[in-house]
Amino acid sequence: MSVREIVALGTASQVPTRLRNHNGYFLRWDDEGFLFDPGEGTQRQMAFATLAASALNRVCVTHFHGDHCLGLSGIIQRASLDRLPHPLYVHFPASGMQYFERLRFASIYHPAAEIVPCPIEERDELVVVADTPAYTLYAHALVHGVPTVGYRLEEKSGRRFLPEKLAAAKIHGPMVGELARQGFVERDGVRITADEVSTFRPGTVVAFVMDTRPCKGALALARDADILVMEATYTAEDQQLANEHGHSSAADAARTAREANAKKLAITHFSQRYASTEQHVRDAKAIFDDTVALHDLDHIQIPRRR
Ligand SMILES: [Zn+2]
Ligand SMILES: [Zn+2]
Repeated sequence: MSVREIVALGTASQVPTRLRNHNGYFLRWDDEGFLFDPGEGTQRQMAFATLAASALNRVCVTHFHGDHCLGLSGIIQRASLDRLPHPLYVHFPASGMQYFERLRFASIYHPAAEIVPCPIEERDELVVVADTPAYTLYAHALVHGVPTVGYRLEEKSGRRFLPEKLAAAKIHGPMVGELARQGFVERDGVRITADEVSTFRPGTVVAFVMDTRPCKGALALARDADILVMEATYTAEDQQLANEHGHSSAADAARTAREANAKKLAITHFSQRYASTEQHVRDAKAIFDDTVALHDLDHIQIPRRR
């Protein structure tokens, strides 16, 4: 079965530390690879995670603060160096086009990869930024003092065939595939529809909410998500700093996960002022129990919905 997982490439905020790189989150989603917020040093972190540039199909930038985008130049140049055999789509807030262009051409190289800029209108509603037969990728504006968007990847819903009902209808082997494709099969002159022998299977949802105050955009992105990756720069004790700087505390992230009915919360983007994330985890778990604090190079498996 194909793999779905998140690999944390960097979990620091503004200043990288000896233990935490600038941001970077690789999402392996079946045959595709998404890279969220390539901060400085992302290429090297990819090497530590044994991720090749060829694994990337989409780069999703939330905003153009350096800790979320300074690695974009390296990723784009690497795509050329490695002669990426497919296009690399780069999603980013439209008002940051000048920063994207500068990063794209930050130094001398021979452009050989197909880089597809996909600017996103920063709107206060979910907007579709990519739609494929397998998934829809949405963005929503966040509240951070500079134009920022969060992302939501939603698998297309489908159906799950019920073995006992298939058996009762004497449908097996290639007939199941035929039923899935055309929605019905004929058996002994009787027409059996897919609806009669299956149930609805909602798609898996992953949400990335980086720099923001808690806001309705964060909630919309995280609604019913199987996993919410959210910034938690500060502890509850430093809530005032979070409010002043347009960030979230661990408690804010936990409240977002709880209100949005997310199933799991992974907090990240920790300020360098903290030697450990134990307090962040305590703050969050008091509100939303299924919380983990990300470390660089952590892997989180994404369960499939049944
Ligand atoms: Zn940041
Ligand atoms: Zn920021």
